[in-house]
Amino acid sequence: MKAGFIGLGAMGSNMARNVAKAGLLKAVWNRTALVAEVLSQELNVNFASTPAELALQADVVLTCVSADEDLLGVIDAMLPGLSPGSIVIDHSTVSADTAREVAVKVHSRNAAFLDAPVSGGVEGAKNGTLAIMVGGSIESLNQAKTVLEAMSSRIVHMGDVGAGQATKAVNQIMCAGINQAVTEALAFGAAQGLDLEKVIDIVGKGAAGNWFLDKRGSSMTSGTFTPGFKLALHHKDLKICLEMAEKLGMDLPITQMTLHEYAQLIREGYGDEDISALYRLKLK
Ligand code: NAP
Repeated sequence: MKAGFIGLGAMGSNMARNVAKAGLLKAVWNRTALVAEVLSQELNVNFASTPAELALQADVVLTCVSADEDLLGVIDAMLPGLSPGSIVIDHSTVSADTAREVAVKVHSRNAAFLDAPVSGGVEGAKNGTLAIMVGGSIESLNQAKTVLEAMSSRIVHMGDVGAGQATKAVNQIMCAGINQAVTEALAFGAAQGLDLEKVIDIVGKGAAGNWFLDKRGSSMTSGTFTPGFKLALHHKDLKICLEMAEKLGMDLPITQMTLHEYAQLIREGYGDEDISALYRLKLK
């Protein structure tokens, strides 16, 4: 099996490294070509000059780009090179509707499509321990499983195309709530003059312990907000969640509050910081 990787950002570059480690990576492409050139040399794989050129070399094409319109753009550019029988797997976080739109495009080339968003952060991407939630045919998933296993510690088939993204939306709403709880609680600790390193240590070992506190607690309280997960990307995800909830006739108050606060931080120039930059507002 030969895989190609499109979108070599904070997540994609590390995921591509793990696919290469498993001996399955043939080629890489990135919008900013220099990034792909450097990674292709590091991993000793081919540098593709277009998404179509990459697709020509791969049985499995993996994508991990920022947002819905970015994914639709790379899919259109890839289609001329896509062979019948190949499999396109998207790891970006986009709407379930976009996943279904992409599937129609990919099927027009007699290729298969899986929406396979990931969770576990940059750390999970580096360590090959991502959780992957998959929508699409189980046969295609089984065919491509060795590639996904190179990047993950857990893969769950959720249903038809779109079900992976629907599950990821659940994840993103939960992350918003966790971000709210952790940043608010730590700001409350700071206001009381507590030693926050000790707070993070002891609280993290009890019932309130969680991934975000463990991975971002110390950095945020020392004023470092290097991504990680860019706040502007989570803002994009939560807008998708809100649209989905509206269709379901549901209110998502925590999501709404987080969107409002992220919008303020983006206006203040913090959109490229990690989502833990929410702590800035809680300290005010
Ligand atoms: P990132 O570091 O900002 O990387 C974004 C990647 O998408 C870059 O390779 C960028 O290319 C490419 N891209 C953006 N717009 C494009 C376009 N119009 N055409 C082609 N390529 C384009 O973001 P990331 O953190 O890796 O996130 C990527 C996806 O994974 C997002 O959907 C995000 O929501 C999701 N995700 C992120 C995390 C996390 O913790 N970071 C966790 C789970 C899921 P350039 O190099 O040219 O800019």
